[in-house]
Amino acid sequence: MKYLFFCVVFVCTSLFIYAQKDSISTSLKIELNTSKYKKGVIKEAIEIPLIVKPTKPVVDIKADHWDNTDHHPYHDFGQKFPLELFFTDSTYASPVSHKKVITSHYGWRRGRPHNGIDIDLVTGDSVVSILDGIVRIAKYSNGFGNVVVVRHFNGLESTYAHLSYIAVKANDTIKRAQYLGKGGNTGNSRGSHLHLELSYKGQPIHPEYLFDFSSNNKIRSKHVWVTQKWTHARFHNSKRVSKIKVIKSADEAAMASLAKQPKFYVVRKGDTLYGISRRNNMSVSRLCKTNAINQNTTLKIGQKLVLEL
Ligand SMILES: [Zn+2]
Repeated sequence: MKYLFFCVVFVCTSLFIYAQKDSISTSLKIELNTSKYKKGVIKEAIEIPLIVKPTKPVVDIKADHWDNTDHHPYHDFGQKFPLELFFTDSTYASPVSHKKVITSHYGWRRGRPHNGIDIDLVTGDSVVSILDGIVRIAKYSNGFGNVVVVRHFNGLESTYAHLSYIAVKANDTIKRAQYLGKGGNTGNSRGSHLHLELSYKGQPIHPEYLFDFSSNNKIRSKHVWVTQKWTHARFHNSKRVSKIKVIKSADEAAMASLAKQPKFYVVRKGDTLYGISRRNNMSVSRLCKTNAINQNTTLKIGQKLVLEL
């Protein structure tokens, strides 16, 4: 009993606490200055295991529709919008090393959707990946020419088209700013440029909604809601800069999704721009401006014209 009595421990005031973290667990280590009868002050360390949610979940991005040949493996998927996207970085790596000049925006162009942005370059200029990821496609295709598609760890894909040279292979794991190849004019291209497309599960997203293409290379928001407006070229005009207001909450996304949808007209045999504009109460010049065409453009049967934006 006497021995036990002498062993009563008095805990002193000073505590040293620090935590050790790794991706799946955390432990709390506490160092105590303990006074013991007859032994004076001694240091004692105790460790308390803690369970925490990992900050960066490990996602197998190759598990879903991973296809090294088909640019659009998600044909049957039908992604629902609004869609929530997360980025771990606040900046991206510029795909070209010079000032980014956008020669054509995401939007309706010559009666067709232009699902990316065109960045001016000289054939041979280096093109790099905007974020970390895994190369899904690195090959020649008819429209895109030499093309690289990178899937990033938040599910977003970036497409780099019309390259003159491809420096990576499908399934290569790459870092942001890693060299992908040289810019060029291959495939369906009028002059050297980089066609940069961003998409999520096959749905092209307006690149300028997610990224600021000025010299600061900012990702507009680490947490962003993408509504339908930013996933269809018909809501935008490739000749104009779209006014960007980033949606950061579910409530705002729900409100924005209620916005008016654009109306289309499908061209029939014998139609003229004059006739279409008269029947739809709009001037020929407005119809041309909305569709980024000119008054001498030959209409094709089945072509869709946007009547309202
Ligand atoms: Zn393009």
